Amino acid sequence: MAPSPKPAETACDSAVPAGCGPSTLAVHAGEARQKMGDSITDPIVCAATYTFPNTQALVDYVEQELPREEYGRYGNPGERVVERKLAALDGGTDAVLYATGMAAMVGLLMAKLNAGDEVVFFDECYHRSREFCVKHLSRFGVVTHQVKACDYAAMEAAINPRTRLLVSESPTNPHLSVVDLEQFVAIGRRHNVETLIDATLATPYNIQPIAYGVDYVLHSATKYLAGHNDLLAGVIVGSQEALDPVRKLRGIMGSINAPHNFYLLQRGLKTFELRMQRHNQNGQAVAEFLAGHPRIEHVYYPGLPGHPQHEIARRTMRGYGGLITFLVKDADWRRTADVIDAVRLPRIGPSLGGVESLIEQPSVMSYHTLAPEERAQFGIADNMIRLSCGIEDTADLIADLRQALDRR
Ligand SMILES: *Cc1c(COP(=O)(O)O)cnc(C)c1O
Repeated sequence: MAPSPKPAETACDSAVPAGCGPSTLAVHAGEARQKMGDSITDPIVCAATYTFPNTQALVDYVEQELPREEYGRYGNPGERVVERKLAALDGGTDAVLYATGMAAMVGLLMAKLNAGDEVVFFDECYHRSREFCVKHLSRFGVVTHQVKACDYAAMEAAINPRTRLLVSESPTNPHLSVVDLEQFVAIGRRHNVETLIDATLATPYNIQPIAYGVDYVLHSATKYLAGHNDLLAGVIVGSQEALDPVRKLRGIMGSINAPHNFYLLQRGLKTFELRMQRHNQNGQAVAEFLAGHPRIEHVYYPGLPGHPQHEIARRTMRGYGGLITFLVKDADWRRTADVIDAVRLPRIGPSLGGVESLIEQPSVMSYHTLAPEERAQFGIADNMIRLSCGIEDTADLIADLRQALDRR
């Protein structure tokens, strides 16, 4: 498999020699070599405000735009460390950190769109992203078009002179479709429209959208980046110039993290590459096991040769992640739930990307309140299970799933 393109060297990771790999970046990028109190770790700066020694210092700060803090809503030294690290991992020149992945999505769309503007979405996406566009951006006069995921002709046909942004996840949630980033970016460039990829499921370890020319990469850092199911955060990575208005609006909306939260994110990132290797290994092995099991009707996983975009995934991804969606053969929702209730290792819960495996039935967990026709429209079947493989031992996960499926 071809390696993902190396992240470009950015102004942010000056402490790290050029050309370093993802694990070196995850450990060192964005951090000063020598830190406060000669500590190896960054301090957690619990400050709502920052002080100036005298009025001249304040005037200098304002007039010369000096790099220092002023008030907690606009930034924190620890937050900037994590932002530089995340920018380096994705090969961007800047990153803006948010309280959650959804706050990042809302923050970017609110900063970039005006009344009368239009957005084109691939329809397989996190249901709250869709809900924000359809229910809320519409109240501000922004029009959202949804087209079938990976239908590039339909996406291009939906573009008109008012279109400002093309949006997709890759891989998509929960169907794991993989977007051909070359085609996606080419459409945007032909029409002079910016592009956004929510790469939460892939992470910068498995895919590097900025190297393909994508303008904005979004991650729910709650998932693999933080990786321990113990915090919420979100990030947008891109160019400093394009993110400047996004950062300014964040300072007004106040959708920021508390200092302990981004310290935990920074700490989680230290093992990012090691965790991703195990998530990828577990995802591939468990998907292959499920695909060969007589009780399984279908497995959605880009690492399987039968996946519709397997070749694109092979070309553009380093690995395929820990998330697997599958259908249980001849099962109604109750018999599907019986499988979930029989597993011993994965815990039943929403979310993904943490060290603990999580399992859920989308028709019950996130789409329960929708009418059956709506669930069908979004491709959410009653016999569908979504499994986020954690970093447990591969053989233990497979043995657990086997006993759950063989019990009938
Ligand atoms: C979880 C998730 C989000 C939302 O992130 P939060 O941190 O929960 O707000 C957005 N996109 C994808 C693909 C996700 O999985």
